[in-house]
Amino acid sequence: MSVENVLELIKEKDIQFVDFRFVDLSGRAHHITLPASEVDGDTFVNGVAFDGSSIAGFRGIEESDMVMMPDTESIFVDPFTEHPTLNIMCNIFTPDGERYDRDPRSIAQKAEEYLQKSGVGTAAFFAPESEFFIFDDVRFESSMHTSFYSVDSDEAAWNTARKEEGGNLGFKIKVKGGYVPVAPVDTQQDIRSEMVRLLQESGLRVERHHHEVATAGQGEINFRFDTLTKTADNLMKYKYIIHNVARQYGKVATFMPKPLFGDNGSGMHVHQSIFDGDTPLFYEKGAYANLSQIALHYIGGILYHAPALIALTNPSTNSFKRLVPGYEAPVNLVFSKGNRSAAIRIPVAAVTPKGCRIEFRTPDSTANPYLAFAAMLLAGLDGIKRKIDPTALGYGPFDRNIYELSDEEKKEIRSVPGSLDEALDALEADSEFLTEGGVFSKDFIDNYVAFKRQEAKAVAIRVHPHEYSLYFDC
Ligand code: GLN
Ligand code: MG
Ligand code: MG
Ligand code: MG
Repeated sequence: MSVENVLELIKEKDIQFVDFRFVDLSGRAHHITLPASEVDGDTFVNGVAFDGSSIAGFRGIEESDMVMMPDTESIFVDPFTEHPTLNIMCNIFTPDGERYDRDPRSIAQKAEEYLQKSGVGTAAFFAPESEFFIFDDVRFESSMHTSFYSVDSDEAAWNTARKEEGGNLGFKIKVKGGYVPVAPVDTQQDIRSEMVRLLQESGLRVERHHHEVATAGQGEINFRFDTLTKTADNLMKYKYIIHNVARQYGKVATFMPKPLFGDNGSGMHVHQSIFDGDTPLFYEKGAYANLSQIALHYIGGILYHAPALIALTNPSTNSFKRLVPGYEAPVNLVFSKGNRSAAIRIPVAAVTPKGCRIEFRTPDSTANPYLAFAAMLLAGLDGIKRKIDPTALGYGPFDRNIYELSDEEKKEIRSVPGSLDEALDALEADSEFLTEGGVFSKDFIDNYVAFKRQEAKAVAIRVHPHEYSLYFDC
């Protein structure tokens, strides 16, 4: 959309405020709001200034002036504000007019430019399945206690998740028993439908919604794939709308990967494919799961770089509490068609040549989508460039349930890192695929690792309630 069109829309819809947004290192959105009367063509040329030193992970106090440059492609009318407000996602520039090398959205765009320069294809498509929990405020409290205090059994989680004010009304979902039951077991149909309505109104093409596997109000809403930066913008919109609809209903939505010990966590499986113009490059009829050589090499790249990649796709200490056996979250770095215990699944049901894609199941929604999608694309492209053969490296195809393999067999298979620190170690040892073509800068990686090490340390030095269960009576 041109600047003129945006200015016309502001008049037409009687927009009172324009909200300029950017995304920080950890994937959180921030905004500065201008009265619409202050917005004209110049705003789109000069941008909107802000103080970069007040944003964790950005600049030092001595180099604080930064500029948000609005991207007119990303506008949507805010569904929550009392006064009509237009939201615009921005890129971050330095006062000298350079793209800021720690701006996640600029990195996502650089990754798309790199794909085009590589000659492999013209566009990469992404579709995330971002799961979340909706808790009552009261239940959220008790859920936190479940995670903290229950010992090892599902039984403990089950009992605590059921503590409700007002007595037990029956039709309760059991631990890991929440996959798609109708009401009255599913109590959240209306709230999810309201989320979908606002997502549609805000420009997303929503494909479906459903209750997810975990007991306490876990949900998922799927929206249609798009190119890399657009999908990351869509995911920011998705989280904004889900958080705020939950708030309107007096509830709280969280994308935290493992809020409940002993039950399924929330993942963000990411479907991805590359096209050259109209031609899907991942499809080859009759091959294993109809996957082309290019797709296999892309898989090779993702799995080869996975330990480092996971520092960007699973970037929280909590991420690694989800990546454990038994909860449909992947633990093993292999690929397979249909098999949900593999890190990469190739969907085969109802798949057309154009829909042929891979599903990387490791990521979760604590990932900054701009950084995570860019990093996955770069890992895959490195696989294509170096012709990394995933079968020769022992990464599959693996069509058995990996959770059920013998210990001997399991030894042959690489696992995901066990902690954020392990993933950061892997990223420090393997980051060239990210700095290729200048998409991520070396400074970015160093700063990111230092930033995340602080988080890991902040958690590690705190006394954990479970330590009382283990050690208090020693
Ligand atoms: N919640 C599971 C995960 O953590 C996925 C469940 C599903 O979508 N089948 O990845
Ligand atoms: Mg799904
Ligand atoms: Mg799901
Ligand atoms: Mg999935």
